[in-house]
Amino acid sequence: MNWTLARSLAAAVVVVLGAGVGAIVGRAFGAPIAGAMVCAALASAALAAWDTARGQALLDWLRGPQTGPAPREAGWWGELAYRVERGLRARDNAIGEEKHRLREFLQAIEASPNGVLLLDPGDQIEWCNSTAAEHFGLDRERDCRQRVTNLVRAPAFVAHMQRGKFDEAVVFTSPGVRGTLMVLVRPYGDGMKLVLSQDITERERADAMRRDFVANVSHEIRTPLTVLAGFVETLAQLPLTEVERRRVLTVMMQQTDRMQTLVGDLLTLAQLEGSPRPPVDRWLSVSDLMQRTQTDAIALSAGRHTLVVSGGDDAEIAGSDTELLSAMGNLVNNAVRYTPEGGRIDVQWRWRDDGSAAIVVTDTGVGIAREHLPRLTERFYRVDGSRSRETGGTGLGLSIVKHVAQRHGGEIDIASEPGKGSTFKLVLPASRVRRRAGVVAEPAVPA
Ligand code: ADP
Repeated sequence: MNWTLARSLAAAVVVVLGAGVGAIVGRAFGAPIAGAMVCAALASAALAAWDTARGQALLDWLRGPQTGPAPREAGWWGELAYRVERGLRARDNAIGEEKHRLREFLQAIEASPNGVLLLDPGDQIEWCNSTAAEHFGLDRERDCRQRVTNLVRAPAFVAHMQRGKFDEAVVFTSPGVRGTLMVLVRPYGDGMKLVLSQDITERERADAMRRDFVANVSHEIRTPLTVLAGFVETLAQLPLTEVERRRVLTVMMQQTDRMQTLVGDLLTLAQLEGSPRPPVDRWLSVSDLMQRTQTDAIALSAGRHTLVVSGGDDAEIAGSDTELLSAMGNLVNNAVRYTPEGGRIDVQWRWRDDGSAAIVVTDTGVGIAREHLPRLTERFYRVDGSRSRETGGTGLGLSIVKHVAQRHGGEIDIASEPGKGSTFKLVLPASRVRRRAGVVAEPAVPA
């Protein structure tokens, strides 16, 4: 609507009406023109006062927080108030939406497993997510606006920031996580920098373990290979008597056996690591497993030990028979190898009060000093290297047992005393063991 025309007309009408009324009243006093002029002026003043009051109402609303609705007037002031209010509301909504998007964006960066740090052109911290705060040992509130190199003082990081060449990542020991951090700096905007950090402690540890493992395997294979190579050379170059030849061949056979056992154990480990967990619905008879273990133990011991296998007639395990037989075989094999002639070896199945169960192998052998116990299941860890090798050990037996236990949701528990003997328990959780229907139940004993 064209308010200029409408307002001008309305003002004219009010002034003319005022003048008319003034003229009538003035005529009664004999001064109609003066009366018309005074009343026209009064009408104009009233109109101006009314207009000012409406304008003031809008101004008051604008000066305030604008939380309530704008003054709802009719006419020119009404439309002005409505349009101003609509403009403000649209701006508020746009700001609200931007804030919401910013919040979501920051939440997404917060959820990142990597640390994110934003630096201004003076390398002062603008913002960081909690992972970055943890990685760099920062306080998100207190350290804001601080120069990053004053707070992260690792020499490699400081040098990297000073060099200003950010093509490659920098790796250093983190003050926060007490591990290794890999940090990538990316310049953006007007001299700003995005700093991304990643905790690579585990990766480094795994790399170190892999390197050690390869070095250990190479070492384990090189020794028998060297012996074999020596004997092959002897056979090829020296004329040997029949007795000597047989002796050489026996040693060569022993070395090939050693390599075969080692490769067998390595393959078992690789298979354990690379295959899915054993099924939870394939139930195996424990008495079968115990019998097969007993047969192997008798062959290994060759009558040198008293062997007692007991329990498990009423039990079943959900899992893999090859894996469990391998674990039990390794435990019994160790018991035979580390128990002098005349000793006793017990293989027992024990139910526990909480419904779980354990396969317990006890011997009266050489035992193990306390300080070795936590490391026994590490690959290639041996208490007595020469004894282990002499008796055909690879140093991998207990790590295979530990893997099998873990894959069945269980654990391996070791107790030992030097000179008295050892007890190895392969503990299986209640979810993996059950009593076989129709068999008299064995009582639970502390295991
Ligand atoms: P190995 O092939 O050397 O026996 P294992 O991983 O089976 O490797 O065992 C690791 C080490 O634990 C062995 O070298 C040995 O010193 C010690 N050990 C294992 N079982 C027994 C046991 N029953 N009695 C004494 N020591 C044992």
